[in-house]
Amino acid sequence: MEQQFRVVKRSVDARQRQLKVNLTLLTNDNGQFIEKDAPIPLYEAPIFHDVHHAQHSVNIIGAGPAGLFAALTLIENGIKPIIYERGKQVAERKKDIAILNRNQGLNTESNYCFGEGGAGTFSDGKLYSRSKKRGNMQRVMELFHHFGAKDNILYEAHAHIGSDKLPNIIRSMRECIIEHGGEIHFSTCVDESLFQSLIASSPHRPTILAIGHSAHDTYQMLMNEGVQLEDKGCAMGVRAEHPQALINRLMYHDPSPELVQLLGNASYSLVTQVQGRGVYSFCMCPGGHIVPAGSALNSCVVNGMSASHRNSPFANSGMVVEIRPEDLAGLVLEFRSLGVQEFKLQGLTFQQYLEHLAYKHGGAPSLAPAQRLKDFVDGRHSQTLPACSYLPGMVSSRLDEWLPAHIGKRLQQGFRDFDRKYRGFLTNDAVILGVESRSSSAVRIPRDPDTLQSVSTPDLYPCGEGAGYAGGITSCALDGINVALAIAHTFNL
Ligand SMILES: Cc1cc2nc3c(=O)[nH]c(=O)nc-3n(C[C@H](O)[C@H](O)[C@H](O)COP(=O)(O)OP(=O)(O)OC[C@H]3O[C@@H](n4cnc5c(N)ncnc54)[C@H](O)[C@@H]3O)c2cc1C
Repeated sequence: MEQQFRVVKRSVDARQRQLKVNLTLLTNDNGQFIEKDAPIPLYEAPIFHDVHHAQHSVNIIGAGPAGLFAALTLIENGIKPIIYERGKQVAERKKDIAILNRNQGLNTESNYCFGEGGAGTFSDGKLYSRSKKRGNMQRVMELFHHFGAKDNILYEAHAHIGSDKLPNIIRSMRECIIEHGGEIHFSTCVDESLFQSLIASSPHRPTILAIGHSAHDTYQMLMNEGVQLEDKGCAMGVRAEHPQALINRLMYHDPSPELVQLLGNASYSLVTQVQGRGVYSFCMCPGGHIVPAGSALNSCVVNGMSASHRNSPFANSGMVVEIRPEDLAGLVLEFRSLGVQEFKLQGLTFQQYLEHLAYKHGGAPSLAPAQRLKDFVDGRHSQTLPACSYLPGMVSSRLDEWLPAHIGKRLQQGFRDFDRKYRGFLTNDAVILGVESRSSSAVRIPRDPDTLQSVSTPDLYPCGEGAGYAGGITSCALDGINVALAIAHTFNL
């Protein structure tokens, strides 16, 4: 028989001057002959039941990765999901995002955070998690593949879908949910009265709370309704953007164009410690774009994404500083000076404060405050700003002066440390934009570790990023699967 092999795992190791591509191959020598056009590796296709008239149904608040994967898992278990999503379907959402990118205004219910697919739809679509312990990540990849992602996400160590491909995958998930009898109610924000009626339908109908971490109004509503919420450590900072060619040079050690073509634009992952807190790169997007990722008026939030080919001339990444609840003590007067809404939870108030501060130093509706990287570290005004992928526009601003010291000073030292590792990283060809304030949830909605139910509210299942138990697409999707399975278990399914 002719020798055949298939790639089942691929990663690039660029830590040394000698680059390595690690491949795990499956050959027919192992007796594992694989059909030529079969997905690689093979997996069990999901079986979705008809749940139009299912005996059990479950409410889901939020149609992000956590809510959608919970819904799909419920259908696999013969349970009907009923989803409430404050934003619009993906096609409509695209129009609001185009307006936002032209700096013509933010729709507070339809933006990079809110709408079908949640923050995951126009995200970068990197499908990996820092944690290896969260259960069956491979199943998440398989479901993404089933709904249209390419074969390579099944074996790439750093799988990536791209913001141009995600909307169609999300649309296919919705079509599957509806075709099998699930319900999705768009433009339906769960406010106090709807929440009360959903909870009142319990114990017969559990409610999965998969709201993401941007809905501050919903957090406030939950507190009013007596749901227990608590502060959680998080990380905030800025987004840095370099020319991609510079990052390729630093990471691939002066590569030939053919090598870059072969390996794709380079990424980086940087971490250091400054005065007892982690300073690190987050959600690095090679060949990507910086985007306006806020969901509230009078605030400025940036994040990053890239299309599947990752071929813009820019490389951006969040550069964030770890924040612990004790770092925020004593900031109340500053919060009040800006007149931001004060929550019982300091992390939320701080997030609002920082985003409002960035808005004040940027401009309406979505101009971002920006400073050349070396000017930021040296404490100098940037007379000019370099070309940047951020479409709404930038305003030169002294981030070194107005970022709270526990973030700004640590970031300055962090950039010096990163430059020691990669000489040339600290350059005025790079620019930083403020603020990267939503890299992780500042809130936790505590739940029982066994039943996954809220510790304060029976039959409520906090889930995904907004509950503080997951962060990023894959881990939120997996949390959705786990919560759905926990509920199926209560129905003895
Ligand atoms: C620009 C950008 C790029 C990103 N890139 C990546 C990446 O490359 N890789 C990665 O792993 N992660 C990335 N992320 C983060 C990732 O998208 C999130 O971690 C993930 O989407 C969280 O999933 P979730 O389902 O918990 O919440 P979300 O995706 O935030 O979804 C929550 C949903 O709940 C809805 N909702 C909120 N309140 C209510 C209410 N009261 N009633 C009804 N609906 C409500 C919202 O409208 C939203 O659609 C990125 C995020 C952004 C913004």
